[in-house]
Amino acid sequence: MNTEFEELYQQIILDHSKRPRNFGTLDDPAAVHVEGDNPSCGDEIQLHVKFGAEGEVEDIKFTGVGCAISQASASLMTLKLKGKSRPEAEQMLQAFTDLVTKDQQEGPRMLGDLRLLGGVRRFPQRVKCAMLAWRAFEQSITESPGIENVSTE
Ligand code: ZN
Repeated sequence: MNTEFEELYQQIILDHSKRPRNFGTLDDPAAVHVEGDNPSCGDEIQLHVKFGAEGEVEDIKFTGVGCAISQASASLMTLKLKGKSRPEAEQMLQAFTDLVTKDQQEGPRMLGDLRLLGGVRRFPQRVKCAMLAWRAFEQSITESPGIENVSTE
């Protein structure tokens, strides 16, 4: 990790943990609410996702408390996922999971600033922090109405 990267990492992570984007709740009754926690670090997240008719991420917000990595990862995640189609969102989820768990140089370009979190793969405890919001999102997909079920309503 060179100095320039470290500075950028600090800047982005601290910025997002101090001023998280999409912080709040969704009142829409159709929104899926998921809670997650990471007891080993004390991180908690409540994720709210409104899926569109085609399964796309129409809106997404979160609240939570915890370390800078967990909150910054959640903040960056909501920015990246908002407006994405279901396949794009699932691709992003897989790409981020690979980034923090597999040994590779850097993630795909589509991850943007999230690639800064790649360094956590060397610290198993931090991987849980970085993945907390993403596991919640994964759960929200399984709890979403589902594209194939729409016609049965
Ligand atoms: Zn943490």
